[in-house]
Amino acid sequence: MLKKNEEFLIDITGNGSEGEGVGRVDGLAVFVPGAIAGEKVRVRIVKVQKSYAFGKLMEVITPSPSRVEPTCAHFGKCGGCALWHMDYAAELDFKQKKVQDALKRIGNVEIEVEKTVPSPQMTEYRNKSQFPVSAEGIGFFAPRSHKVIDIESCMIQNRLTDQVTKIVRDFMREYKISPYNEETKKGDIRHIFTRTAKNTGQVMVCIVTKNNVMSKADILVERLKDIDGITSIVQNINKKDTNVILGDKNILLWGEERITETLNGLKFTISPHSFFQINTLQTEQLYAKAIELANLTGQETVYDLYCGIGTISLSVAGKAKKVIGVEIVPEAVKDAIENAKANNIDNAEFYVGKAEEVVPKLIQKEKADVVILDPPRKGCDQALIETILEIKPKKVVYISCNPATLARDLALLQGYEVKKAIPFDMFPKTPHVECVVLMSRVE
Ligand code: SAH
Repeated sequence: MLKKNEEFLIDITGNGSEGEGVGRVDGLAVFVPGAIAGEKVRVRIVKVQKSYAFGKLMEVITPSPSRVEPTCAHFGKCGGCALWHMDYAAELDFKQKKVQDALKRIGNVEIEVEKTVPSPQMTEYRNKSQFPVSAEGIGFFAPRSHKVIDIESCMIQNRLTDQVTKIVRDFMREYKISPYNEETKKGDIRHIFTRTAKNTGQVMVCIVTKNNVMSKADILVERLKDIDGITSIVQNINKKDTNVILGDKNILLWGEERITETLNGLKFTISPHSFFQINTLQTEQLYAKAIELANLTGQETVYDLYCGIGTISLSVAGKAKKVIGVEIVPEAVKDAIENAKANNIDNAEFYVGKAEEVVPKLIQKEKADVVILDPPRKGCDQALIETILEIKPKKVVYISCNPATLARDLALLQGYEVKKAIPFDMFPKTPHVECVVLMSRVE
């Protein structure tokens, strides 16, 4: 039996789904964050469970040729990224394997997953930041913890976010504004949320507060609006003591209520509560590939389920007879309807509700020839999969940010064959991977 604080030399034989190295001691799997497959390392056991243990990387005895010096000063302390110690080729390879393993192991899908499509930007690629604010600072949570690490500059964020957090930090210090405390559930400012439109340059800053009144808000607004590019400053009120970042209520403090971005030549207006893919340039490539895979003739009715603000729906509208989008967030559907108008698209319809509840009603009127799925991490509701099997579309294009739930859902789509699986690196330096899969109905 392994004991805490014991040290071992181990061979790292693979990387787990979070990017951590995996080796064995006396047959027990040991997960070692920061280690790379092929390395010999010295680890100190920090946690022992029944069927696995966690080890802290103490020394790399034989480094992998893929090992690089991390360029982010917060690497290891910040829980945001996990892969700064790997070169990009190894990172892309890891993501391909992660998808391959999930499809095989969970979905029993026999397909050769293609190489991961690299991100056009490796740093500053995120268009959204959501920094927790606490007594320790403004930044990011430490790995597997709710302790905030103060971060002055995050390399995967747009540089403008550094200016925003600096202004808020100074403002809070100067006017003794209290940060939210997760334990006492008290305090004023909870999160700083920003969204930057890469292609149009518009920026929204949203200050999430615990209370209705934000004291000295006018002073903060005066300072923030001087940052070049900021077009919208919003206060969001979140009174709930949960991990959900945004509350229901937004108050416009300055500028426009929403920001506008373009994707592959189409215009999209985005509300604070609407989902928008976080890596704009990679999203353009991902959507282009999804549309290519759908291979539409112009005669099809397409369902775009989990459609958000209609980004995919409007991107395929020009190639289909009709597109029907379904989305659970009402603000996003409102954005989608306006986005259709703004782009002069008249063959797209949108419905608010849970896909699993709306689609059974939709199919009474009009079935789809092609279904596009882009669910959140938890994947599709089982009832929706059953409804899709009833519709019998010729093709299903599944976009996923979680290979495990993707694999589970693919296995449930009986009567369909996976034709292509392509990982996209949407989240460089993190272990997350986006993937697009084409399925065709077996006649
Ligand atoms: N296709 C969009 C959004 C994808 S994210 C894009 O690429 O931008 C997943 C979306 O599913 C989110 O907008 C989320 O609000 C929505 N969603 C979550 N659960 C849902 C459900 N049960 N039915 C419909 N939409 C849902």
